[in-house]
Amino acid sequence: MKRITIAALAGTAVLFAGAAHAQQGVDFSKVEIKTTDLGNKTYMLEGQGGNITVAVGADGIIMVDSQFAPLHDKIKAAIAKISPLPVKYLINTHYHGDHVGGNAAFHKEGATIVAHDNIRVRLAAGTTNGLTGNKNPPAEADALPTETWLVGGSKVEAGGRVAQLGHVINAHTDGDTWVYFPDANVLALGDTFTRNYPNLDWGNGGTIEGMVLANDRYLKTANDTTKIVPGHGPLATKANLQEFRDMLATVRDRVKKLYDAGKTEEEVLAAKPLADLDTKWGAAQGLGTPTTFLRNVYNSFRNHN
Ligand SMILES: [Zn+2]
Ligand SMILES: [Zn+2]
Repeated sequence: MKRITIAALAGTAVLFAGAAHAQQGVDFSKVEIKTTDLGNKTYMLEGQGGNITVAVGADGIIMVDSQFAPLHDKIKAAIAKISPLPVKYLINTHYHGDHVGGNAAFHKEGATIVAHDNIRVRLAAGTTNGLTGNKNPPAEADALPTETWLVGGSKVEAGGRVAQLGHVINAHTDGDTWVYFPDANVLALGDTFTRNYPNLDWGNGGTIEGMVLANDRYLKTANDTTKIVPGHGPLATKANLQEFRDMLATVRDRVKKLYDAGKTEEEVLAAKPLADLDTKWGAAQGLGTPTTFLRNVYNSFRNHN
């Protein structure tokens, strides 16, 4: 595994933040948080931004991701309806703002922020969007993860509830963490698994090959009754995961062939290699639109060869 450093970040001219995604202009006061019971005191929360997973232990709550900062009060109220216990741990699946926006507020209320160390480094240094050049400033101190790990996996425990944390290398970003709650058979996968074309943050370590390998890994843990919380979109099953993985592998193979043949980004876009997949997988707006996805896949090869 490659450990990124502040120096390495400073030396990289073009990075990718993607933190705001296509969420600018959202009126957060109109967002409603929807709670889905996944069984065994485990819940999926949907609002605006990345999906949240909540697991209630005997003396506290483990939470995965926190959406945008302005939604903190609404998310807190939704959690209070589930349990009066405090959030003990907040796990970050990756550094994007639609997943870590609530870090500072939940931390100030006592939650320990747990994350892969690459997430801490990205948040502390600030980031730049590879496609647009948009910059994200360094995060405030309260938003930074304080319990981090680098190699292998990690584990978080709260009142008898266990969250198993794994790291997949260079997938959606270079700090992706996936979380498994074995007693509820729930997987929370962040943006390495979505229901449309995924965003691929190639400026900050994301690659299409890593995305395929990540989903291969999840398929080994999931079974037919596993409830899978995607980074975005509705709750999913192992069959959905398999379908997503196969789509990614097809995309990788087709675009790599063009890339290896020396085609430019413009030539690859003109060739429309994903035309038959776009209807099913292309999002109407944001980072999962067919053109943006194809550009990100192409650049993920360019950035890693
Ligand atoms: Zn996201
Ligand atoms: Zn993301």
